[in-house]
Amino acid sequence: MLKTIGVLTSGGDSPGMNPAIRAVVRTAASHGVTVLGINNGYDGIFEEDLIELREEAISHVLERGGTMLQSSRCKRFYTPEGRAIALGKLRDAGLGGLVVIGGDGSLSGALELHRSGFPTVGIPGSIDNDLWGTDMSVGVDTAANTIMQLVDKIKDTARSHRRCFLVEVMGRNSGYLALATAISTGAEVAIIPEYRVNVERILQLLRDRFERTKGSSTIILAEGVCDADTFVQRMREANGSAAFPQEVRKTVLGHVQRGGVPTHFDRMLAARMGELAVIGLLQAESGVMTALKKSRLTLLDLESVIGKKKHPAPELIRLARHIGIEFGDPVEV
Ligand code: ADP
Repeated sequence: MLKTIGVLTSGGDSPGMNPAIRAVVRTAASHGVTVLGINNGYDGIFEEDLIELREEAISHVLERGGTMLQSSRCKRFYTPEGRAIALGKLRDAGLGGLVVIGGDGSLSGALELHRSGFPTVGIPGSIDNDLWGTDMSVGVDTAANTIMQLVDKIKDTARSHRRCFLVEVMGRNSGYLALATAISTGAEVAIIPEYRVNVERILQLLRDRFERTKGSSTIILAEGVCDADTFVQRMREANGSAAFPQEVRKTVLGHVQRGGVPTHFDRMLAARMGELAVIGLLQAESGVMTALKKSRLTLLDLESVIGKKKHPAPELIRLARHIGIEFGDPVEV
């Protein structure tokens, strides 16, 4: 009988981690299971920084971005020796299972714990949407909404001055946020790591568009390709001695993309994943991750998830092409 479980958040934080923690605590409580919150990611295991999460602790957290348990990047957890110490500490604390909320690094750690025999279930929490096997991770929708709102504002000023704006967005090695928000903001160009950028074609598109409409234009650049300064430089080099058809300004959105009130979608996803993670542990599941597939929630083996590269969904690529977004050429493998 499972009596006590732990929950931690690790790696890059994402909006919706708090609603996930809340659902873990409430679902566990409804089965008579106590939850210990481990502060500061895997570091908290080494530091024995655990607190019991009762109902009061998780009230009014749904609407708070970030993670109430805080997060970290923990070097010690990468080594087998470090993990053996952590395993001993988890057992000494009386834990019979662990829920890890985090990105693909954190879930690699969760898989290692499972391999050492400790019951562990992962919840994908990341703004990047780079985890294979799940259509969405907790935090992606909020980050996309933040980007969309900020690009809308940038477009107001871009229009007033007929400028071209290059907006650098997060996503690590994934182009999802850039491509999805190019669609939702009506940007002309998305530059993403999964496709090879064609700078000449972008310049031609901007020239044609400016001649035709005298309007503004927007380019969304995924950080996984290069930074905004480097890309403006590439545009200048490709343009040679000619002047740009219009003034090019850049904006790096930065960490605002990680914060903010989780959207309804993220709260629902977090609640569903938190609940399923606890049900999984109660049913003796381990080494699995909660995953959203075509609106349904399942548990997927982490062995099949970790190490795989997630590509943008073919429907998203088709949509971007059909509505005329320039996003480069397929990369042959
Ligand atoms: P994210 O979870 O957002 O992808 P990181 O890649 O930084 O963030 O991983 C967060 C933490 O997860 C790391 O600091 C480390 O403690 C743990 N971790 C990452 N990869 C592994 C791995 N291969 N084996 C064990 N632990 C890992």
